[in-house]
Amino acid sequence: MITREEIEEVVSKYDKSRITISTICSHSALQIFHGARELAFKTLGITTPDRKFVYEAFPLAKPDLFIEVRKFKDVLTREVQEKLIEENCVIIPHGSFVEYVGAVDIVNKLYVPMFGNRMVLLWESDRSKQREWFREAGLKTPREFKNPSEADCKVFVKYPGAKGGAGYFTADSIEELEEKIRSAIRRGLIKSLEEVSIQEFIPGVRYYFHFFYSLMLNGGFRVGEGGRLELLSMDKRIEPIDEAYRGLPNVPTEFFDYTVTGNQPLILRESLLKDCLDMGARVVLASQRLFPPGIIGPFCLETIYHPSRGFTVFEVSARIVAGTNLYPQSSPYTPYIFNEPMSTGKRIALELKKAMESGRLEEVLY
Ligand code: AMP
Repeated sequence: MITREEIEEVVSKYDKSRITISTICSHSALQIFHGARELAFKTLGITTPDRKFVYEAFPLAKPDLFIEVRKFKDVLTREVQEKLIEENCVIIPHGSFVEYVGAVDIVNKLYVPMFGNRMVLLWESDRSKQREWFREAGLKTPREFKNPSEADCKVFVKYPGAKGGAGYFTADSIEELEEKIRSAIRRGLIKSLEEVSIQEFIPGVRYYFHFFYSLMLNGGFRVGEGGRLELLSMDKRIEPIDEAYRGLPNVPTEFFDYTVTGNQPLILRESLLKDCLDMGARVVLASQRLFPPGIIGPFCLETIYHPSRGFTVFEVSARIVAGTNLYPQSSPYTPYIFNEPMSTGKRIALELKKAMESGRLEEVLY
């Protein structure tokens, strides 16, 4: 494991007046580079040759420098890491970064400083650890069934790893559930029953809340020791199942698909903001107890709201989520927090800038 002390050692040799913001060219990289440029940071994109032109197509979000790799995992090679350190790089983890490089390898092999607390990636990528985190936070989560024979309600079945919902399915009876699991094993989607997560199906409306936990700015909603919680924006993911009505009355089975294909903006009824902020605060406080200093920077709570059951949280993403790409300038909430346009990407750059100005850079890096 790369220790916090090892990262501090690398940071101690950095030219603190010339920090470069870096990430791999995917997911929310345009937003991250755009925000960093707005605050005059130098930017570096790690890209595969086939997608470089995408980042050149958006001049105001184009990184100043590129490192070309054959595959994203090559970011772990000594050559790439040394180059990143030479450029005083701070890596911003995003969904594709974690997916391609892998949470365990990030924690064990990446010795380039990263924004936030990298331990959080181990907690978000392991379903049982996530549940422990939610339990510690006292959040309402879907019931889980270890064995199909225990399922006493409509269930929602997920495969391991973040596959963007691909292949997930529902079942209305124990027989249907057992048959669908057998079929998934036959088709090679999973090796055994132990790999799937069988959850209670939660009816309701989905809300994905984009939070930012800041150690550098004062005022606002104080949570934990020395930090504040900001609700920057929210979205709803679009999945083929959302448009299943188009196939009525005989809905083609292809519509029963939960793969995320896009995101829609939305806002929350104002009287529910109390519950939303309360859930965010509980997640931060639990993280500080479970893996100090806890979560730092952007995270997303994925929830389903039912008018009589309230919010159920089914997932946490402990880094910037792609739904924030909807708001490169401002969301319906950021004007109430900042006097200037603010995206999650720019917010990360702002936290780094404030940390640099106050000589506290080490606090927000690991
Ligand atoms: P996830 O991979 O956990 O983000 O889930 C992908 C999608 O599956 C979500 O966007 C929801 O539409 C759906 N989903 C996940 N968990 C549940 C659940 N317990 N009940 C109903 N729908 C769910």
